[in-house]
Amino acid sequence: MTALAALIAASSVSVAKPITGPWPQAFPAKELCSNCGLCKSAVGVPSVTTACAFIGDGMARAESIEASVHGRARRIDESLDEAHFGVHETIVLARGFLNNAQWTGVATGVALAWLESGEVDAVVVTGSDARDGFGAPQPILCRTPAEVLQGRRVKPSLCPSLQVLDEIAGDPSIRRLLFCGVGCAVQALRALEGASPEAALGLEPDGLFILGTHCVDNSPTPQAAKRFVSTLPGIGAERAKDVLAYEFMSDFRVHARLRSVGESGAGEERGSSRQAEGGPVSLEADAPAAEEVVKAAYMTLPPSIGIPSIAPSCFACFDYTNGLADLVVGYMGAPFEGAKDEMVSAPLMVTVRNPKGRMMLERAVAAGRVQILQEGGHGGRALLSTGDRRPITMKTVSRDTMVQSLTTPGFVAGDRGAPPWVGNFLASIIARTLPKGLEFARYSIDYHFLRNALYCEDRMGEAGAARHIPQYAKALMAGYAEEMKELRRAGGS
Ligand code: SF4
Ligand code: SF4
Repeated sequence: MTALAALIAASSVSVAKPITGPWPQAFPAKELCSNCGLCKSAVGVPSVTTACAFIGDGMARAESIEASVHGRARRIDESLDEAHFGVHETIVLARGFLNNAQWTGVATGVALAWLESGEVDAVVVTGSDARDGFGAPQPILCRTPAEVLQGRRVKPSLCPSLQVLDEIAGDPSIRRLLFCGVGCAVQALRALEGASPEAALGLEPDGLFILGTHCVDNSPTPQAAKRFVSTLPGIGAERAKDVLAYEFMSDFRVHARLRSVGESGAGEERGSSRQAEGGPVSLEADAPAAEEVVKAAYMTLPPSIGIPSIAPSCFACFDYTNGLADLVVGYMGAPFEGAKDEMVSAPLMVTVRNPKGRMMLERAVAAGRVQILQEGGHGGRALLSTGDRRPITMKTVSRDTMVQSLTTPGFVAGDRGAPPWVGNFLASIIARTLPKGLEFARYSIDYHFLRNALYCEDRMGEAGAARHIPQYAKALMAGYAEEMKELRRAGGS
């Protein structure tokens, strides 16, 4: 390298400054920025144009990285198994054993086991910032099991997970890392510095492990999430701060878990360590919190709350199943009986993508952190999967407020939901007609991709959307091409 080239290289390193301006205006992806945190780190920001899931090739870029991460590309065949669920060896049903987790603690259990066994020096989890009273998601670089426990419950709003990259790169004791995160952050991390994240972060070759979660329709900010829960019957503005967790469930209801009245402050206690000094975290150490459960039928929500509760990035997302993680945990394809199941007892769906993911799951099982309830095989063939998603997918798309706002000129969403008794009656009827198990997961993926494709065409134009949308998503949507054409025609768009 000449002296001049060395000078240019050195100065280009020194000018890489994290973006500190207002979000999202100051960020390269503007309104589509998912606040993944890459641009908030000096290590990450130079890679933004080739790593951001919302710039250039966007979400389609991940397909070109899959083969180097998993050892092979997705198979897009007639079964559509990998078009839906990504590259994988197997899909299983599992449960964890942690109190005060969002579900049963499968993801946290895997992270704990992998750290406790010395396979990694540190773990990145998403925790909650208790200072704002609602728990804004915040990344935490954990070096102890007690710190990992802070990732147990998180509000569904955007989290700058990758902003801890500088801390990782600046710590020579971190040579092997487990990163836990959602698809858009995982895509950016995998694409870091020409798809060499280990080199960029000072890790050992092959020293990066990724535990992903399914992710869809996150709120743009904690304030938007709080506004959303405030609209749920039985919660309201006065109890929004007590909401510990909520999910959109396959029984057509939002399930929210609230700190019981008189239990204020329990949330902070759950984040604290009850670990014996130097020893493993006891599975029984953290007593279950006193909680109330509120279940609100989707139809009781005012239709007008839908669009502002979802970040623009999530309307442009095609990575529901976190295709570049080694192991993925989620609930969408797991059986859930609305009448008897609760979040804290129901099984979860775990997708094993590659040998690293298999080792992580096996270690968690051997450590007693996770139990496999049912082996599903490739495509989850042995797991529950009933019904036919196709007719209900199109019904859901055509009634979606974002779709209607795009296809129907002058559309204005109503600001009142159905009365609870009507909503509950309708939810019970609809839940009976919905597909179950993995077919429910396929329904949910297809619906979100179809809706998001319309959004991308509107935002990016046809050519931009065609570049951004991955091939696997196009393969899934091909089965609905005629109905979508009809939908656009009927709406006049
Ligand atoms: Fe940067 Fe991430 Fe936003 Fe893209 S999504 S602009 S990489 S912070
Ligand atoms: Fe990121 Fe997609 Fe999740 Fe939104 S839905 S937070 S864009 S992975």
